[in-house]
Amino acid sequence: MQRSRVDLHIHSTASDGVLTPEEVVSLALEQDLAAIALTDHDTLSGIAAAQAAAAGSEMEVIPGVEVNSEGAWGDLHFLGFYIDPNTPLLQQQLGAMRLARVERARRMVQELAKLDMPLDWEDVQRLAAGQSIGRPHIARALLERGYVSSTDEAFIRYIGRNGPAYAPRLRLTPPEVIEAIHAAGGAAVLAHPFHSGIQIEDIVRFISYGLQGLEVYYPNHSPEDVQILLDLCGRYDLIATGGSDFHAPWGKEGAPLGSVYVPAECVEQLRQAAGQ
Ligand code: AMP
Ligand code: ZN
Ligand code: FE
Ligand code: FE
Repeated sequence: MQRSRVDLHIHSTASDGVLTPEEVVSLALEQDLAAIALTDHDTLSGIAAAQAAAAGSEMEVIPGVEVNSEGAWGDLHFLGFYIDPNTPLLQQQLGAMRLARVERARRMVQELAKLDMPLDWEDVQRLAAGQSIGRPHIARALLERGYVSSTDEAFIRYIGRNGPAYAPRLRLTPPEVIEAIHAAGGAAVLAHPFHSGIQIEDIVRFISYGLQGLEVYYPNHSPEDVQILLDLCGRYDLIATGGSDFHAPWGKEGAPLGSVYVPAECVEQLRQAAGQ
């Protein structure tokens, strides 16, 4: 059987996923995927291992990244595809973001202590063994200590955007993120557009900054959501990408790997948009 399904939004232990890049690749091979993109938050450190694990198979591993940004609309995430992991500018920017993530995680741990939920920083660090520490690691530490009965509860009660222990993190502006992705040779795509209160005119402005695609196919996108985004892609000549945002094979941290329908032709379109 020919492989035809793709999943272009996946996290590993390099950031806040729970499977190693190698484990992600073997799961994707089991699912007969034709291509995956590893899109860890603010790090490219899982890419080489994932590509090595897929070498000799018929599955492509697209080098990717997920970088956050924000504006009046709240949190915005951008995906970069076909980026060159050896680009100094992007590496520098991501390095600064990761450093700020550590400080921010410490602040959240301090806030949780004030709420009578002390955590050992060593435990949080052990759970965040990869390069990029994030809120899911803190959620897992809270779960491990029995302060919550699921990581979802940790987000809902404490570390969600409006939660009492939430701390914001360093963010680049949308044009800075798009420029960094381009400087690394990549194609820039707006991730899960409906996670923020973004308006159509904002998306149109991002196109003038060089945005090349929208994540149309995503867990929980209704047929209406998909149609709105597809119409935008048609009108502005944007690439329609998609993926599961897989973080873990259990719980509510993203959908199962390969579970979201994504037309495979977007891979070729991304490759061309990235000039490869
Ligand atoms: P951070 O990058 O540290 O701000 O953490 C963001 C990550 O937390 C996202 O990539 C999601 O994986 C995860 N996340 C955000 N909100 C929730 C939620 N309500 N439940 C579970 N995971 C969440
Ligand atoms: Zn994540
Ligand atoms: Fe995201
Ligand atoms: Fe993600």
